[in-house]
Amino acid sequence: MNKLDSELVRGQLEQLGYQFTSDSDRAGVIIFNTCSVRQHAEDKVISKIGQFHRRHQDDPELILAVIGCMAQRLGRELLNTYRQVDIVCGPGQLHRLGLLIEQARQNRRGNRLLAIDEPGEGSGKNDELEEFDTSRSFVDTGQPFQAFLRIMRGCNNFCSYCIVPYVRGPERSRPMNHILAEARRLVAAGVKEITLLGQAVNKYRFRDNDRTLQLADVLETLNEIEGLKRLRFVTNYPSHFDDRIFRAMADLKSVCPYLHICAQSGSNRVLRAMNRRYSVEEYLELIERARDLVPGITVAGDFIVGFPGETDRDFQATAELMKKVRFKNCFIFKYSPRPGTTAETRLPDDIPLEVKKSRNWELLALQNEIAFEDSQRFIGQNVEILVEGYSKKSHLNAVAKNDDQAPDSKTISDPQLVGRTGGDHIVVFNGPKTLIGQIINVTVNKASALTLFAESGVII
Ligand code: SAH
Ligand code: SF4
Repeated sequence: MNKLDSELVRGQLEQLGYQFTSDSDRAGVIIFNTCSVRQHAEDKVISKIGQFHRRHQDDPELILAVIGCMAQRLGRELLNTYRQVDIVCGPGQLHRLGLLIEQARQNRRGNRLLAIDEPGEGSGKNDELEEFDTSRSFVDTGQPFQAFLRIMRGCNNFCSYCIVPYVRGPERSRPMNHILAEARRLVAAGVKEITLLGQAVNKYRFRDNDRTLQLADVLETLNEIEGLKRLRFVTNYPSHFDDRIFRAMADLKSVCPYLHICAQSGSNRVLRAMNRRYSVEEYLELIERARDLVPGITVAGDFIVGFPGETDRDFQATAELMKKVRFKNCFIFKYSPRPGTTAETRLPDDIPLEVKKSRNWELLALQNEIAFEDSQRFIGQNVEILVEGYSKKSHLNAVAKNDDQAPDSKTISDPQLVGRTGGDHIVVFNGPKTLIGQIINVTVNKASALTLFAESGVII
């Protein structure tokens, strides 16, 4: 969601005549797009802001903006604590960012600017936010064949640990005709793969005259777009799930058989304390249904370890769930108390950091083992991948020539490239750079837990 917001902001500012540079020394405006989901993410931003204190003092023209969830969460506190911050702009106010920057430049930082949602404001200005999304201008992200498309804003689930509903406001589904128009424009601009975004994307509901459109309707509609090769949707909440979504995954040519569906814990007691509204048994049933209905489906998920009160037994139950589901990959996080959330206000953060760390490692090791075993079945198989670009870890591929020297992949004729299957498996192979952005077939000849390796491919 943040990547998409950054892209939209960039498009908005480019339309106003700004140019972008990744070299902050040359920039007249510096923007931090921030995340609040864990303390660690916020700490990194605070440290970055600190680095600009001096330069901001020395250069009266420099404008520094903090945007995104941390801006919404901390608001005026950011302005009060950090003199070098000129603009604080929450995710619900990003449509105004261009104006705010102009204002700050014109009055030479005279008054520092705060633009955040007031409590309850979230749904009132849907039209402006819609315009922010629909007026999207295409910017060079380096991956012109892949794009995110927001279909929902905000979240109403209020999982007890989570800051998202507080900073991104109430849940709203975007109008289908806007989604379709945006998808068509993306495809016309050369996009082959669209990832639909929402915090609980399977809860998409949009009232269109006398019909209520759901995620399956979005998938069916976008699937009709000529030239769109792949459609994904993240992330899913393990309830409000109907079989139409699975049928869309099985039947529609562009919908990828990949389901990111967060479990968070394998203990019913912990799930209740997290205010997740499903049981472990229901989660398992759902995965079983998915596997019955969608051939070759891969499942990914998120887990939190060290939630308040998580006993060894609760943790073992999480490991059990992992073993039963056999995820393709998992994101595992150490619980981080977020100020103002129910968990933070009502439950002591009582699991020591060392225990959180060791549980994190244990789950990672288990998931690694599972992924390694499961990926072996790909050896000898032909898989279809979208080639995304140069592989960053060229030393990994045993079939690469000049392996040890890690050649500069951009200059040799058959550099190491990386692509992804519809099921989201990463595939590394050697091939000409003209394959980037193409969908090709490759034969897998080696498999590790996180990566498949292949012979160079043929365009299909
Ligand atoms: N909307 C998505 C999740 C968005 S946040 C969903 O519900 O599927 C991404 C992930 O961060 C969550 O799935 C959760 O595992 C993790 N997370 C959220 N809040 C956290 C916290 N306070 N501490 C640690 N991890 C957290
Ligand atoms: Fe956070 Fe839960 Fe909403 Fe996901 S569903 S964003 S974890 S409150």
